[in-house]
Amino acid sequence: MSETYSIGVDLGGTNLRIASYVDGIEFLDIIRVQTHLAEGRDQVVRNMCEAIDALAARKYGSRRLAGIGIGTPGPLELPNGILRNPPNLPGWDGFNLRLAVEATLGRAVEIESDANVAALAEQKLGAGRTHGIDSLCVLTLGTGVGSGLIFNGQIWHGATGMGGEAGHVIVQDANGAPCGCGGYGCLEQYASATAVMRMARESTGDSPAVTARHLAVLARSGDATAAKVFQRVGHALAIALTGLINTLNLPLYLLGGGVCEAWDLFAPTMFRELHSRSYVYRLTQPDVLEPIIFEPQKTYILGAQLGTSAGLLGACLLPLQKKAGMRIGRNA
Ligand SMILES: [Zn+2]
Repeated sequence: MSETYSIGVDLGGTNLRIASYVDGIEFLDIIRVQTHLAEGRDQVVRNMCEAIDALAARKYGSRRLAGIGIGTPGPLELPNGILRNPPNLPGWDGFNLRLAVEATLGRAVEIESDANVAALAEQKLGAGRTHGIDSLCVLTLGTGVGSGLIFNGQIWHGATGMGGEAGHVIVQDANGAPCGCGGYGCLEQYASATAVMRMARESTGDSPAVTARHLAVLARSGDATAAKVFQRVGHALAIALTGLINTLNLPLYLLGGGVCEAWDLFAPTMFRELHSRSYVYRLTQPDVLEPIIFEPQKTYILGAQLGTSAGLLGACLLPLQKKAGMRIGRNA
């Protein structure tokens, strides 16, 4: 059997990355272009497919193309691949991305939400591999809060592909901040970079910081108001993690995304609140929070390892996964 490679696509609202990948070797080539949303979704799909075709034509010696994987902003309805009002792709509501790409390429593709592929990559190539863990939850604290669940090495989809969206669990009561999903008080409204800036404006009227990173610098230099914002992030994460840990009892929860640069500012509150709120965490709390040797039967909350590569790596991994059918409500 000849050796294989795969092609992965990381479709974002701003950037579009297409890579070729060999399992165990990493990326062969990466094509980076802008996502020209203003030119319409059909043109974005054409740009994506041109790059895929270019990488497919390279062949890399005698390697066989094992498949093509796409990570897209959600919500994404599976198995058909239809986008449902995605906030990062305005105007794409109801668009069957899988069908459009397959029609242009003339071949089948695997498609997943960007948060799910990032979680898959963390399990296969990041912290999951480092610690030998096959079941974990990843929360990515970026512009929004993405999340994905991996059970026994497989993405948890739920019945329609929309499972695992812990960014929209409620951490504040009905008076919580309104969320783009239609709910109130979602984790995303208290732990994303966008939320950090909103909370800074709320507490000062006119925040002196222009970015979440700048706010963190202020907090570390002794600005109590800035520090309070990150304590609120820690508090919100603790409430969300309490629900996840008490429900799922997974061994590993990973936090990634830009807000994690302020780990030192939010983690003390997060761990303190978690200890007081979650009985499962209290019973399984590790002696060392960041261990060299992972203790089985404990609950770890650690930083994600793959950074901004996670989404693209996960998309490349999709066609290489066994189709084990971790979906409910349907016969595999
Ligand atoms: Zn929400």
